[in-house]
Amino acid sequence: MRILVLGSGGREHAIVHSLASSPHVTAIYAAPGNGGTAGERVTNNVALNPEDAEVVVAFARTKDIDLAVIGPEGPLCAGLADALRAVGIPTVGPGADGAQLEGSKTFAKDLMVAARIPTAESATFADRDSAIAYLEAHSAPIVVKADGLAAGKGVTVAIEMSEAISAVEECFSGRFGEAGNKVVIEEFLEGPEVSLLAFVDGTTVMPMAPAQDHKRVGDGDQGPNTGGMGVYSPVPGVPAADYSRMLEILEMTARALHADGIEFRGILYGGFILTADGPKVLEYNTRFGDPETQVLLPRLNSDLAEVLMALAEGQLESMGLLSWTQNVAVSVVMASAGYPGEYGVGKPITGIEAAEQIPGVTVYHAGTKIAENGELVSAGGRVLNVTAVARDFPTAVENAYKAVELIQFDGSFFRHDIAHRALAARQPS
Ligand code: AMP
Repeated sequence: MRILVLGSGGREHAIVHSLASSPHVTAIYAAPGNGGTAGERVTNNVALNPEDAEVVVAFARTKDIDLAVIGPEGPLCAGLADALRAVGIPTVGPGADGAQLEGSKTFAKDLMVAARIPTAESATFADRDSAIAYLEAHSAPIVVKADGLAAGKGVTVAIEMSEAISAVEECFSGRFGEAGNKVVIEEFLEGPEVSLLAFVDGTTVMPMAPAQDHKRVGDGDQGPNTGGMGVYSPVPGVPAADYSRMLEILEMTARALHADGIEFRGILYGGFILTADGPKVLEYNTRFGDPETQVLLPRLNSDLAEVLMALAEGQLESMGLLSWTQNVAVSVVMASAGYPGEYGVGKPITGIEAAEQIPGVTVYHAGTKIAENGELVSAGGRVLNVTAVARDFPTAVENAYKAVELIQFDGSFFRHDIAHRALAARQPS
């Protein structure tokens, strides 16, 4: 099997790493990939821009690609999966129609309301004055979201009404470009946040395990939001009834898309808040989560290449039940000083080999590259995802942090409390 993986982050390294362990896989092209994908078995990095569908399709045809896996949301929303399928290449990732579930909060809300999927009550506005009037009729805390893709920066959880008003002004000021042409104002939900991802081939929905990430940059959930500073899976303490309900909601979502004539072949990611009234959907993603993938795929025993090919061909059901390890996984992000604001790049990285000597540790590269002199250097805000798989959370956390301590690059920092809720849940009371 010859596979093309599009994207360049930790998620894509984790996908490539799992695919590379499959005996079916004879070649992997990571486009553009990073310093970690470059070192995987049978893998070559290729300098392609995943946003350039014409070039990607031409490359896939030249290289006789059997399966394409699209990592990031941008190319999905732009229709890359449609372009690949149009030339007969089995592809993991929804077409532009299904990707709207992530690309437009209004589309997602409309689908949820129509399918009676529990979510925060909300209203959408295309102009500033009616949005402000709506705010004036409600009370804080309240949530303001730019409608389109805003790289995770378009959401304001306003504790005070003044923050909500500023957020509305900001959206309509053009700060988020087109993504802010419409604004969604939403009821504030309270409860723990859990993600549940599933492989979906249109009708069959095969769940992965729940995962929980840490979005704030600092220990104790302080500081600004990031793309994620660490993550763990499974999530102790999620009641079985909530898990079943989350799975049911993903199935309802797939059915609703199917009923609308949308054939969703890809990864469906539900971001949930477990409220006192049960799980409610906060958001959907239409691709593997980053960093969730870095703790989910290391726990998958089934052959990922087989699973993804079955998905792309609409044959997921033929896989039977997927096999997962009972072990847990914890991933700590090592980031560049200044992230999520401005940061420097090009810092030489050492110690990864030593870190990977620790049992169960894999270091996924999120923002690295091989410099011209052959040295591995940092190339992003989030640089490495140091992941440990172990029989329990205390061991996984200990091993992940031992590994982190062995890795150096100038200005690196990380959170010290990843998986603290999992550790606390396991303490005898
Ligand atoms: P989103 O991009 O929609 O997932 O929002 C980013 C983050 O904002 C989420 O992970 C939540 O922590 C928070 N958030 C979003 N919507 C709500 C809501 N309705 N109530 C409470 N928190 C929310």
